[in-house]
Amino acid sequence: MSGRLQGRRAIVTGAGSGIGAAVAERLRKDGAQVFTADVQGEVDFTADLTGPDANADLVKAAADAMGGLDTVVPCAGISAFHPLEGHDDAYFLRVLEVNLVAVFRLVREATPHLKAHGAGRIVTIGSTTSTYGDEGLSAYSASKHAVLGFTKSVAAELGPFGVTATCVQPGAIATPMTAPAFEQMPEYKTFWENKAPLRRLGTPEDIADVVAFLCSEDARFVSGHGLWVDGGVMARH
Ligand code: NAD
Repeated sequence: MSGRLQGRRAIVTGAGSGIGAAVAERLRKDGAQVFTADVQGEVDFTADLTGPDANADLVKAAADAMGGLDTVVPCAGISAFHPLEGHDDAYFLRVLEVNLVAVFRLVREATPHLKAHGAGRIVTIGSTTSTYGDEGLSAYSASKHAVLGFTKSVAAELGPFGVTATCVQPGAIATPMTAPAFEQMPEYKTFWENKAPLRRLGTPEDIADVVAFLCSEDARFVSGHGLWVDGGVMARH
């Protein structure tokens, strides 16, 4: 298995924490060069990726550092529960900006590199809430539905250039994003553990392993696809 991403040059955002950090580590383990970005943590490029030029600057820095770019995995994201009543515009728009608009900008800026490569890879991170909705998740679920739709359209547009675009849809994963909710509400953690046929929360590595597969030559004919990686939760939805 080791070395299957040899020669690939990838950007991973959100790599300062959780799923993004695990993805960066896994891609490196498989032989890829990885250029990491986040607003915090130990990464190659530190920036708030909602800045209008941040993604163009990131793509340029990554391509310069690695001598090219053929793989993009935007993992940066935010989430919080907000009931609809009293849900202010600013937070709703912020969720769309981080989870959707920054992904759009990164993919747009990377597109010339991915087309030139001839076998480019885009793996976005949606959520099982790219497929269903839930109370208090109107902004998050809207952004994650949108990122899945965006990914499908990118797959259609860039497929003729040998580029695949797929969307990994994690279920409940134990990361710093979910830790406060699981710590404050142990019953919420138990709920998700029991809801999964595999009877546990996911780990960042559960997601990273699937991302690595989708970046590899083995996944060359998989595109426009949203893939639940959720311990089977969606089978019961
Ligand atoms: P996390 O909070 O551990 O990591 C997210 C990272 O994104 C953080 O390091 C954060 O600094 C970075 N980030 C946020 N806003 C940014 C910005 N404006 N600019 C640059 N970096 C920014 O969370 P995670 O659980 O690892 O989440 C990673 C991705 O997986 C997110 O897109 C999230 O929506 C998705 N996801 C997570 C779960 C879960 O259960 N943890 C489930 C489904 C989907």
